[in-house]
Amino acid sequence: MDIHKIREDFPILAREVYGKPLVYLDNGATTQKPRIVIDSIVDEYYSVNANVHRGVHYLSQKATELHEGSRETMRRFINAKSTNEIIFTRGTTESLNLVVSSFGEAFMNEGDEVIISVMEHHSNIVPWQLLEARKGIKIKVVPMNDKGELLLEEYEKLFTERTKIVSIMQVSNVLGTVNPIKEMIATAHKHGVPFMVDAAQSIPHMKVDVQDLDADFLVFSGHKVYAPTGVGVLYGKEEWLDKLPPYQGGGEMIKHVSFEKTTFNELPFKFEAGTPDYIGTTGFATALDYVMGLGIENIAAHEHMLTEYATKRLKEIPGIRIFGEAAHKSSVVSFLLGDIHHFDLGTLLDRLGIATRTGHHCAQPLMQRLGIEGTIRASFAVYNTKEEVDALVDGIIRVSKMF
Ligand code: PMP
Repeated sequence: MDIHKIREDFPILAREVYGKPLVYLDNGATTQKPRIVIDSIVDEYYSVNANVHRGVHYLSQKATELHEGSRETMRRFINAKSTNEIIFTRGTTESLNLVVSSFGEAFMNEGDEVIISVMEHHSNIVPWQLLEARKGIKIKVVPMNDKGELLLEEYEKLFTERTKIVSIMQVSNVLGTVNPIKEMIATAHKHGVPFMVDAAQSIPHMKVDVQDLDADFLVFSGHKVYAPTGVGVLYGKEEWLDKLPPYQGGGEMIKHVSFEKTTFNELPFKFEAGTPDYIGTTGFATALDYVMGLGIENIAAHEHMLTEYATKRLKEIPGIRIFGEAAHKSSVVSFLLGDIHHFDLGTLLDRLGIATRTGHHCAQPLMQRLGIEGTIRASFAVYNTKEEVDALVDGIIRVSKMF
């Protein structure tokens, strides 16, 4: 891959910040967008815009074709069996809330248990806690070792006859750990328990095949994979989605409404109340086509090289502490330098044009496990370069001399 050519696809990368070239290393939070994605949004507003479904007129039918075509792109991207298994949402958080709410409503009662892990994002903790408060369910947590690897023997010990579901991330947004999710799903299935995968941080960086994983539910956001904000996916096996009650009520998700009795629409529409972000879904599909065009394996190889290089270079800096040294890691490096507060280091790096993320990264229980308040995180995308890693390292050395 010619990274410098790829960089030209992303107009924002050419800008400066405080008079310095932008070094954007906050891709775990959101990625930048290629021109074709931005253009797809503008073009659709310019020439196609009309509300989807139910429209007899030309534009509505064209917009519907684009929207449903995007669903097919999602299906292909994750190798789902059918587009009935692709539910459009606002993002990972909404997808998680949908499953927790509908699954919890139908299949969980007081004393029933969900298994999550110590490294989960708040989006995969708090919805379960809301269900805990509402229905008295119990949350069990898979621990990890000091390298940031989940303890699989402890995981298996957590299953009881009250375990109703497992919900765990494929890649940690803080540690970069790639969890052995396929093996963990097989363990859950051995106990007759379904498994939900938070794929927010894996979808942009590796091939995710829902049939190969045998995932029951899998959720992700568009904006972390070069797509616009505000669109995401809930994948669910059709047999599960059929059994779940609707999440929100409104237009689109009904078959027939009367004051006496309302019947619900078929999949996938049963879970898509209201006007969908049909322009966002076009942008989303355009982004996934872009990724498929580059080849997710090529992206993974480039990002792996950057992560290894960044880890090696950062370790040369005296006083650096890296969090997350799992054998299998994705494109995230979290660290602290001496006793410099992560916020101060991040702010000073920003003045050099280097965008990193500082703080707890929406994973406060993980911070508690690590005995820290937060980290600085550099996270890579396909357009990052070794020169940018060098700029980060030089920036840290420069800042450290100020303390
Ligand atoms: N899970 C993980 C692992 C994440 O990294 C994020 C985003 N930081 C989320 C869930 C939430 O994603 P979103 O904000 O797009 O809903």
